[in-house]
Amino acid sequence: MGELPREADVVVLGGGPGGYAAAFRAADLGLDTVLVEARGALGGECLRVGCIPSKALLGIAALIHDAADATEAGVVFGAARIDAAKLRAWTQRSINRLAQGLAGLAKARGVDVVAGHGRFDGDGSIRVAREDGPPATLRFKHAIVATGSRPATLPGLEQGPRVWDSTAALALSATPARLLVVGGGYIGLELGSVYAALGTEVTVVELLDGLLPGVDRDLVAPLARRLGKRFKRILLGTKLTGMRDTGSALAVELAGEGAPAHLEVDQLLVAVGRRPLTDDLGLDHTHAARDARGFITVDAQRRTADPRVFAIGDVAGEPMLAHKAVAEGLVAAEAIAGHPAAFEPRAVPAVVFTDPEVAWCGLMEAEARARGVEIRTAKAPWSASGRAVAMGRPDGLTKLVFESASGRLLGVGLVGPHAGDLLAEGTLAVEMGAVAEDLAGTIHTHPTLSETLGEAAELFLGRSIHLPPPRR
Ligand code: FAD
Repeated sequence: MGELPREADVVVLGGGPGGYAAAFRAADLGLDTVLVEARGALGGECLRVGCIPSKALLGIAALIHDAADATEAGVVFGAARIDAAKLRAWTQRSINRLAQGLAGLAKARGVDVVAGHGRFDGDGSIRVAREDGPPATLRFKHAIVATGSRPATLPGLEQGPRVWDSTAALALSATPARLLVVGGGYIGLELGSVYAALGTEVTVVELLDGLLPGVDRDLVAPLARRLGKRFKRILLGTKLTGMRDTGSALAVELAGEGAPAHLEVDQLLVAVGRRPLTDDLGLDHTHAARDARGFITVDAQRRTADPRVFAIGDVAGEPMLAHKAVAEGLVAAEAIAGHPAAFEPRAVPAVVFTDPEVAWCGLMEAEARARGVEIRTAKAPWSASGRAVAMGRPDGLTKLVFESASGRLLGVGLVGPHAGDLLAEGTLAVEMGAVAEDLAGTIHTHPTLSETLGEAAELFLGRSIHLPPPRR
């Protein structure tokens, strides 16, 4: 690509799950599409330093824990020996394989992938600073901003050799003896779980009074119990007030009821959320607006205040999840192609891939009550599931939230092994406006954990066979 401007129907900035999904759909709809990605390779944070490497490592963590748990069943394995270099290479192989697949899919569709940092630099134009060539100018009819997000930092806790963000933690450059995770959200708990399995003594500090703030408390309770055993300490309502590198360790100061005032650790992981990435984007050359948290504001079609510019994925608001980015990307591409598309899901699923997994979608109890929606809930404990008991995991729970007046299913929550996979049925049911009879009347395979969804619906209808009827 030379100095002459390249004209395109659609220019997508950012090749993460949102960006590549949007570009692929736009090309499939016959639009001439250019995809600009600063890293060169497609996949974004999700593939490189997010969803995929974290789940690869959590899979290994589960293996280590399952092997240890098998002792109770009379099967004894030796202690795991970790070859970190091999583990890193194994994870990287999956990343490379998926990235190659995406590159092939882009090529097959005729999507022009430009490697470099893109920036709006005038009316209808984007300038790309390329590492391997002269800058390129792209003139667009429509642009889609899909630049994602980056880890949030705390003042005084900027990255350094002893202070990691999630990206640095996933690099597995060291297995510290003692790790302090700042933040009890999903990224902190997932990565804390990985390091705990690798033998690290993990302490979590969370400012609020519970892990996974905002998530249904019934679902969090079994996870908190299990992590309470796996982690050295979970300090709730606790703030990190100071930190000093002593040379051989980090001396941290904490403030919180029941928390030690001083703690010595070897490594800190700051996992306090993510921020939308809109720096150096030249957004002032468009009419796109941002909200108080920095997210680009969009309508149902993901169109910004500038009719030619769309925004999708993490940069366009919560929940910052890959599948939400993909769904928005498809909507934006279809809207640009003139289709009557809108992003109006009833249920965006969310999963915390810890052990046990926590998964939910739709309207859960606390939010429904806060919004004044009249609801009734049904909770099926997994102690009544033959499969859960046979797995030695009766501590799970399946929770359904119904609208009282209509009996319509509004939300589904699960906690337990494979909760993330089990959630799919619940998400479909919420999207399709299912009522309890729909779930109860669906035959679920025995013995599987999916039976707990049917059982919870039966419980709601007062006719469960494995659980006593609910109190009215
Ligand atoms: P991103 O994936 O962030 O991609 C944006 C891309 O844009 C990047 O590749 C970046 O290089 C590029 N870019 C930025 N600025 C420019 C520019 N100016 N020019 C050109 N290119 C640019 N989500 C889930 O759904 N499930 C999970 O299990 C999960 N686990 C996670 C675990 C971790 C540790 C982390 C950090 C995140 C996880 N997420 C998970 C969140 C998920 O990664 C994001 O929601 C998702 O990647 C957002 O996709 P996106 O397309 O909006 O942006």
